[in-house]
Amino acid sequence: MKDRPHVAPFDPERLRAEFPALGIEVHGKPLVYLDNAATTQKPRAVLDRIVRYYEQENANVHRGVHALSQIATEAYEGARARIASFLGASGPDEIVFTRGTTESINLVAHGFARSVLGPGDEIVITHLEHHSNIVPWQLAAEATGAVVRVVPIDEDGTVDFDAYLDLLGSRTRIVSVSHVSNSLGTVNPVERFVRAAHEHGIPVLVDGAQAVAHAPVDVRALDVDYYCLSGHKMFGPTGIGALYGKAEALDRLPPWQGGGDMIASVSFAGTTYAAPPLRFEAGTPHIEGAVGLAAAIDFLGAVDRDAAAAHEAELVRYAHERLASIPGIRFIGTSPHKTAVVSFLVGSLHPYDVGTLVDRFGVAVRTGHHCTEPVMARYGIPGTVRASFALYNTKADVDALVEAVDRARRLLS
Ligand code: PMP
Repeated sequence: MKDRPHVAPFDPERLRAEFPALGIEVHGKPLVYLDNAATTQKPRAVLDRIVRYYEQENANVHRGVHALSQIATEAYEGARARIASFLGASGPDEIVFTRGTTESINLVAHGFARSVLGPGDEIVITHLEHHSNIVPWQLAAEATGAVVRVVPIDEDGTVDFDAYLDLLGSRTRIVSVSHVSNSLGTVNPVERFVRAAHEHGIPVLVDGAQAVAHAPVDVRALDVDYYCLSGHKMFGPTGIGALYGKAEALDRLPPWQGGGDMIASVSFAGTTYAAPPLRFEAGTPHIEGAVGLAAAIDFLGAVDRDAAAAHEAELVRYAHERLASIPGIRFIGTSPHKTAVVSFLVGSLHPYDVGTLVDRFGVAVRTGHHCTEPVMARYGIPGTVRASFALYNTKADVDALVEAVDRARRLLS
């Protein structure tokens, strides 16, 4: 990373201390937070940045000549530049601010529905997608007569790459695939997906919601056409995210919401639109969210990301090893390429019951289908218990999880 500040030796204990929420108690027990795939906690630097914005920089962006408006505009546009360099984009104009991954995917799907897709055209997704990378494409298909084609997954949660190759064809208009599965932890080989699609001239969208907090991402090295992220899953605020698009990939999308800031000129005879990214940012944006997200990127920039990734991989390995000693445990998602997520069931116990009891012992995990109902249907299960890790988790958190799950098992059996 070019504008990288001093990178301290990786120390999860020191990092933990930067997150006020990790110090709280729930049900009279110290919080063990293992729901990071749903949302991460926020470091002090992000919280302070948001307060400073409101105390010293708050004004509307883009439209003002007064000093404060210029400061706010610089903060907002500076955040866009920070995201661009974080992702390795060619420049800030390739970054559209959105509410998050869901809105980013909807923006592209809507654009494709209005400008590219027609009857019989095909959209290729995989079986392990989050609902937010399924439903927008179903809506686009419904509106245009296009068809959603789904690449199957193997028993361990790996996407069947040969089946993917077979699905690519002259009717395929876009491939939309997640970088990392939120319910299985599978890491998809995005470069291979992209290379194969590009051989047919097919653009690729990657849902990076679960990837960016766990490993550096370089959109140009991956050669993706679109990449989507959510600020709140990478230590930033909720309600802010981004869509990266190659310049020509954004250019091909028509406007999707009308209003202030997205226009070149408005008249009753006809309106012309701003160039990307502003074309896709109608109305007053989430300025506070953008500056908070930039602070989260700065926080990550001061972390040794390779060491953090190795630490998280060790937590996942350790969690599998220790949980395996619990009678009746069944892991869902055992791909050799996985990160940060451990999904499991205990005997015939319902995941909600296990999760509810585990919470009483202070351990926050998520239970249910994790917005991936087709994955649950694939395994014939109602849902899973999911522990998901971030760089501030420790082996002590895993120990607390294992003890809580085993106590829950004994109480429920
Ligand atoms: N994709 C994946 C893989 C996710 O895990 C999530 C969030 N659980 C989303 C998309 C949607 O993200 P958001 O709710 O922040 O828009």
